[in-house]
Amino acid sequence: MSASISRCGAMGAGRYAPSPSSALHLGNLRTAVVAWLVARTTDRRFLLRIDDLDRDRSRTEVAHQQIADLTDLGLDFDPPLVWQSERDDAYSDALGQLDTYECFCSRREIADAVRAPHLPVDAYPGTCAELTEPERVVRRAERPAALRVRAAGDTMTVTDRWTGEVTGNVDDFVVRRNDGTFAYNLAVVVDDACAGVDQVIRGADLLGSAPRQAWLAEQLSHPIPSYGHVPLVTGVDGRRLAKRDGAVTLADLASAGEDTAAVLGRIAVSLDLATPGEPVTLDHLRARFDPSVAPRPWVVEG
Ligand code: GLU
Repeated sequence: MSASISRCGAMGAGRYAPSPSSALHLGNLRTAVVAWLVARTTDRRFLLRIDDLDRDRSRTEVAHQQIADLTDLGLDFDPPLVWQSERDDAYSDALGQLDTYECFCSRREIADAVRAPHLPVDAYPGTCAELTEPERVVRRAERPAALRVRAAGDTMTVTDRWTGEVTGNVDDFVVRRNDGTFAYNLAVVVDDACAGVDQVIRGADLLGSAPRQAWLAEQLSHPIPSYGHVPLVTGVDGRRLAKRDGAVTLADLASAGEDTAAVLGRIAVSLDLATPGEPVTLDHLRARFDPSVAPRPWVVEG
């Protein structure tokens, strides 16, 4: 066990980690229920972390509403509740253990360079990787630098409990933005390791981040957690569920006459754990849930 792990928590936990930019919708709530069920049926603690790193988009009142909604659904969490906005010291400490370099590229410059045919579409082309110190001095006067980790085009394979092996290119991704904010990929890896999270269940939109995060965990001598990515809930148009689909949050649904117990029932049906209209509790669902069975995609009709 590495020194940084022993400073942090005991092993064996799952977690749910919402970003408090807008209210949780049915898709988020369903992912939270699945994360809770997988953790609780595999004898793990279950933690809640508020991913409020992005100060412009995060709202404390939204975070409190998210916590209230999850609790209303019946989910329970083990302490501590973690707020990413309070963890800069831990991220800074991790950053000091990585081989990083300053990057002065604008999004535009990266997009143009990435059009080079030999590079994967979203990979950083390495423009600033070999700048000399005098070149950096000049660039620093033009704009603040982001920090990128030097990955030198590694690849990493992770295993998702439902979709199997996923291999991704690991480019020199950003670990601290040029406004000083620590990047999502760094924070998630540091927080999960610190809290003893060894099971990451989350939305399928983050499957593509898993190889980079696993690679980073390895660089920081943290164990790599197991992964499970839950298919996103879509509206009838096939697009990811959003406000335009009508009543999608607990508050919207309550005003339309659907109480939280009914919403839990609907989520249970979508997971093939209940029949339509059947009253259920999370305890029922826990008894019926098999963590090896992949949750199916769910189309919500507005
Ligand atoms: N906070 C991220 C989100 O809401 C999830 C992070 C994670 O589960 O790794 O999309």
